[in-house]
Amino acid sequence: MTVQAQSGMYIGGAWRPALGEETLPVVNPADEQIVGHVPAGTPADVDAAVSAAREAFPGWAATPPAERAALIGAVRDGLAARKDEIAATVTAELGAPPALAEAVHAGLPIVVAGSYAELAATYAFEEKVGNSTVYAEPVGVVGAITPWNYPLHQIVAKVAPALAAGCTVVLKPAEDTPLTAQLFAQVVHDAGLPAGVFNLVTGLGPVAGQALAGHEGVDLVSFTGSTAVGRQIGAVAGAAVKRVALELGGKSANVILPGADLAKAVNVGVANVMANSGQTCSAWTRMLVHADVYEEAVSLAADAVAKYAPGERVGPLVNAKQLERVRGYITKGVEEGARIVAGGAEAPLEKGYYVSPTVFADVTPEMTIAQEEIFGPVISILRYEDEDDALRIANGTVYGLAGAVWAAEPETAAAFARRMDTGQVDINGGRFNPLAPFGGYKQSGVGRELGAHGLSEYLQTKSLQF
Ligand code: NAP
Ligand code: MG
Repeated sequence: MTVQAQSGMYIGGAWRPALGEETLPVVNPADEQIVGHVPAGTPADVDAAVSAAREAFPGWAATPPAERAALIGAVRDGLAARKDEIAATVTAELGAPPALAEAVHAGLPIVVAGSYAELAATYAFEEKVGNSTVYAEPVGVVGAITPWNYPLHQIVAKVAPALAAGCTVVLKPAEDTPLTAQLFAQVVHDAGLPAGVFNLVTGLGPVAGQALAGHEGVDLVSFTGSTAVGRQIGAVAGAAVKRVALELGGKSANVILPGADLAKAVNVGVANVMANSGQTCSAWTRMLVHADVYEEAVSLAADAVAKYAPGERVGPLVNAKQLERVRGYITKGVEEGARIVAGGAEAPLEKGYYVSPTVFADVTPEMTIAQEEIFGPVISILRYEDEDDALRIANGTVYGLAGAVWAAEPETAAAFARRMDTGQVDINGGRFNPLAPFGGYKQSGVGRELGAHGLSEYLQTKSLQF
């Protein structure tokens, strides 16, 4: 299947020529071939898109929730109808193995869009509190800035709740994965949303992204990406007294308590990190194991990782810069005294931005590889002496996005999880829930996505007293 790139921006309900001359190549990280070009948005393109979104806002905000729900349902159906094309596009620009692209990258957004079609129709946008009626009203125009790691999921997790709330949107997707965003714009168009309700400007973060984040016509900025850029966007929004939602990095702990099913905890933990080549903000990249079973866990992890062959079950990293970054972290781990039990910094394949799935043992909590987000298929195994020690290590980073706890009894694991400074914890392998709030404690972010909590981010309240 060939991937078709659009040469314009989607603004005000139509594909319009970009206002600048420059284009950006889109590269397939599996073979380093260019698969298309997209326009590099300028501040003038962002201006045009924000104007279109502002113009569309009053009408969309006043559209009955049931009608908004029906249109979001049509977007969901469009995503389902084009599932194969979406998966092929994610494979082409992110390098995701086809099975992962179909199940997760194309599959999850259908579920999330469907959940917001339902929530838009059922959410209580009005409630009585004593002698008051409290209305939940849309915040206004949303500037959405998304990363490349889950290109369509990150878009839908912002756009669907924004639309459900009655907000209008301007999206600036990651420069590495703009084709999936263009496909989404086409789905929105075909679903028949009113002109200007959703707008797309492709381009570079420091140009188009920055213009959008600082635009005075934007009422709320929703950003997912690095903590460094998130901090900058938060500062600009704060100065303008503007709402902001930040989904930033993570360094999540997979805590295996004594008595847990060790083989299961290790295998699921390894799978969690290897999925999407480790490019998942909520990945459990630190495995915490009791001293008594430490060496057993290390050899189980090394065996598990051997089943993830680069180019087969594990795709490449998104670009050459991320490859160098991740290899740099592996080198740093060795320099700081950690022991490599699988993988390493050498390139496993001749072509493509591949890194070997890597497991480090003898990692101590203060090491760089135990503190910083690596964003690659790299696992650090840390040793703890007792539960308090495990908790100290689990909570001992600036991040707090996700985590896992394993124990013989779920109650034991849940009690430990309640003491963790983190936004979500999977108990004994609990499944991902697309309706559960997703977001971070500490420097992992501000705000929540998904489900009703995700919808409320795009609402502000007004109370009328009678
Ligand atoms: P990033 O620069 O933060 O990118 C995220 C989004 O922000 C992209 O759309 C990016 O555009 C845009 N952006 C960049 N600079 C901007 C600015 N000054 N103003 C407004 N928008 C801006 O992240 P990255 O460089 O792609 O990845 C670096 C690291 O971030 C990764 O190694 C990982 O640790 C972390 N990360 C985390 C997540 C997550 O889900 N939490 C996702 C991706 C990356 P461009 O695409 O043009 O840069
Ligand atoms: Mg960047």
